Amino acid sequence: MKIVLLGPPGAGKGSLAVLIKERFKILHISTGDILREEMRKDSPLAKEIKSYIENGALVPDEVITRIVDQKFTNDIKPDQGFMLDGYPRNTAQAQELDRIFEKTKTSLDCVLNMEASLPVILKRISGRRICKKCGAVFHVTNKPPKVKDVCDVCDGPLYQRSDDNEETVKKRMNVYTESTAPILDYYGKQKKLWTVDGDEDTQILFEQFVQSLNEDKRLHSH
Ligand code: AMP
Repeated sequence: MKIVLLGPPGAGKGSLAVLIKERFKILHISTGDILREEMRKDSPLAKEIKSYIENGALVPDEVITRIVDQKFTNDIKPDQGFMLDGYPRNTAQAQELDRIFEKTKTSLDCVLNMEASLPVILKRISGRRICKKCGAVFHVTNKPPKVKDVCDVCDGPLYQRSDDNEETVKKRMNVYTESTAPILDYYGKQKKLWTVDGDEDTQILFEQFVQSLNEDKRLHSH
């Protein structure tokens, strides 16, 4: 299975990705996770990307494309499935991804577009907490950890993303509308777009997704 998860911040891409990854054992490539991991290092790249992320802006295309290109060239075997989460984020990246696919002789099965309403997005983002050690995602009311601020999976400390504040979320929403939403058209023309209701509970969405897979022969797990 080779898919892209698309949607505004807080649409539930990361939560759905956990379930898909668990069931289908495919590689989950989240550019946001990769960048956050990089930010924890004291590297020149960390310094470069920090200000973009904390301002809710997109990291420059050449930085992000280098990361994704390396993943496809080094980490993904030709017959292995993958799930891209947070990439592509604009038309230039979508075109670059097609070039990477051409080079690595692969192609996309589908783009899962998660639409979500603003009140749901704001509630999800304001309560989101992440484990510093393993990256597991919790929510203060929707999915609270058993012990406050401690990860259920690895006992690591939970933190709130520096870009999960109201002001930065507004900027990220604007970036989504201006830069990311236009690629819906790009994938619509390729007849690859599946749109689902991101306000819906993740488990229900996952079950609907699995059912759609069974009905659509294009998608096959490797
Ligand atoms: P995410 O975890 O997907 O919400 O991404 C967090 C932040 O990382 C975004 O607001 C951007 O600053 C940056 N980022 C993640 N993916 C990309 C991408 N494909 N292109 C540019 N910036 C990105």
